[in-house]
Amino acid sequence: METVRLPRVMQETALMGKRAGKAIGFVPTMGALHEGHLSLVKAARSENDIVVASIFVNPAQFAAGEDFDRYPRTVSDDLEKLSSSGLADFVFLPEAQNIYPPGFATRVDVAGLSERMCGAFRPGHFQGVAAIVLKLLNIVQPARAYFGQKDYQQSVIIKRLVKDLNLPVEVVVCPTMREPDGLAMSSRNAYLSPRQRKAAPALYRALQAAASAMAEGRRDAGGLRALMRQALRDEPLFSAVDYISIFDAETLEELENADRNVVLLAGAARIGATRLIDNLLVNNLK
Ligand code: AMP
Repeated sequence: METVRLPRVMQETALMGKRAGKAIGFVPTMGALHEGHLSLVKAARSENDIVVASIFVNPAQFAAGEDFDRYPRTVSDDLEKLSSSGLADFVFLPEAQNIYPPGFATRVDVAGLSERMCGAFRPGHFQGVAAIVLKLLNIVQPARAYFGQKDYQQSVIIKRLVKDLNLPVEVVVCPTMREPDGLAMSSRNAYLSPRQRKAAPALYRALQAAASAMAEGRRDAGGLRALMRQALRDEPLFSAVDYISIFDAETLEELENADRNVVLLAGAARIGATRLIDNLLVNNLK
């Protein structure tokens, strides 16, 4: 496994592979790698000739007052995990100053989708995500790029970006990896105290409660929302709920009636200073 730090070198390496007829599979991450990340790398390995993972804590997607400074950075562990997995050929590990050189002025805004759900609580976040993902796709030149359902809104925004800009890449969305108690794996779980960690799966349980009610035929979004909110309130360590609701799985609009073929149950809530997100797709046809 080779570590590449300069965007220019990464791009030249990728173009060389491409010209030799190789398909590149790409997994962008912010590091503090866990099994969720590794599941994406595994998927990339199974479908491509060359696998590139990137590790970059993108300052542009953190607003002032968010956790950019304390975001877990465990680069040497990450490199060890990737290398011992035997799954990745290259790790792209750029410096912020090479990604955003002086004079950087371009904004990438996937309008509408970026303002809904988490976007309403993290202004500018998805613009930062869209810009870095577009840059990384241009640098790494993948045939396929892998994202987790854990960040469902992000995956919808990137699919839109790829379609709107005719990017020659297939976006692959992989299932959310969970801890045995249901908590979605996340680098931010490292922030949780043991008490908070114990309380954290309540977010997933709240989504599951609504999914079970839907399996029994309930479709009133208001009632389902109330049920999920109550399930979260029952766990007092959740100090604030940004949202927990029912959305159209494509437009991400909040629904009044959960009668579409596929709906998205999604929530974002805080335990202390830690913001957790999770989601479930419910297929009403099954
Ligand atoms: P991050 O490092 O948090 O930016 O995540 C990098 C990629 O890993 C994103 O596409 C995430 O959606 C994905 N990811 C994060 N957590 C999980 C998980 N628990 N299961 C599957 N994919 C995940």
